[in-house]
Amino acid sequence: RREIYDCKCIFCKIVTQEINTELLYRDEELVCFKDIKPGAPYHFLVVPADHVGNCKTLTREHIPLVEKMMEVGKKMLHQNNLTDPNDIRLGFHWPPFCSVAHLHLHVLAPVSQMGFMS
Ligand code: 5GP
Ligand code: ZN
Repeated sequence: RREIYDCKCIFCKIVTQEINTELLYRDEELVCFKDIKPGAPYHFLVVPADHVGNCKTLTREHIPLVEKMMEVGKKMLHQNNLTDPNDIRLGFHWPPFCSVAHLHLHVLAPVSQMGFMS
């Protein structure tokens, strides 16, 4: 199910697999894949299947989606035995410090091995 697709968007193309990227998680609403330039030993991106814009354009209607993105992100870490809440980071980059317009949650761990750019 993809109701909103932006043909210029790299993450839309990952969702459709026009750009071949291993999807570590996928359901109707979300996909998860590794960041191409990891800022830590574990660095996942969780993105909506639809082209939802960046976090500045989110509305109340997106709250359940964002909550689900956080849940899936935590699940990805838990699957890798990263369960200490103090040792994980989940967050959005705030525009304009955001290079991809498609909403994406950064999921990183362990904190002790996070690079400066993360
Ligand atoms: P932000 O826009 O929040 O600063 O970061 C976008 C993130 O997407 C970066 O960490 C970057 O490495 C990642 N990224 C950009 N293009 C690709 C891509 O084609 N594949 C993957 N797996 N990650 C990407
Ligand atoms: Zn997109």
